Amino acid sequence: MVDLKCARARMVDLHLARRGITDPRVLDAFRSVPREAFVSEKLKAFAYDDVPLPLSEGQTISQPYIVAYTVQALRLQGEERVLEVGTGSGYAAAILSRLAKEVYTIERIASLAGSARDRLARLGFTNVFVSCGDGSLGWLEHAPYGAIVVSAGGPGVPPALLAQLALEGRLVIPIGPDESSQDLVTITRESEAKVREERLTGVRFVPLIGQQGWLDVSCLTGP
Ligand code: SAM
Repeated sequence: MVDLKCARARMVDLHLARRGITDPRVLDAFRSVPREAFVSEKLKAFAYDDVPLPLSEGQTISQPYIVAYTVQALRLQGEERVLEVGTGSGYAAAILSRLAKEVYTIERIASLAGSARDRLARLGFTNVFVSCGDGSLGWLEHAPYGAIVVSAGGPGVPPALLAQLALEGRLVIPIGPDESSQDLVTITRESEAKVREERLTGVRFVPLIGQQGWLDVSCLTGP
């Protein structure tokens, strides 16, 4: 029987703190959110392995180190309104909720959005709001956002997300020509007209499917 609390503390020390995650608020957020509550019963024993784990609908909950790296890059201070694209299980949204004022998270697959919404409510994450839709278009109603994080890889930066980024806000997104080769980039809005882009590292995320992402090939019918 795995002691999940010990496993969580060990994961934070071994896979986050010792690998360059230095922001104490980020480390505390990972210490406080039970990842086992975001995976299926049979995967709970693996919740603190530093690996992505399968969700339903062929999707994944990202590797903890990558979530921590991405979240740290947002440099959250605590008062921001954050947009996450790609809710999946809701785990990253739960982490973000410990670091910002409000989290708006959007998922294109209705069953995932529904179960993440129920799970987050059951666990008491009252400052997270889940919607089902195409997150490549953002969530205009609550814009502008002090930070935007995209948990799926697109061909480029969606203009809609850039338009919903507040002045001095940071957008972190994996972009690249295909699923096997993406760059995690940070975009900082320096003024109304000027943004600065910085490459952080190479990553591998599931595709961002939507109007300003990749085409949904499952909708195409053959001849
Ligand atoms: N952040 C999630 C978590 O903590 O479990 C993991 C996200 S998973 C790597 C990527 C998610 O992005 C998938 O659930 C996928 O359905 C979703 N996705 C892909 N394209 C999307 C889009 N245009 N809008 C919203 N969600 C999208």
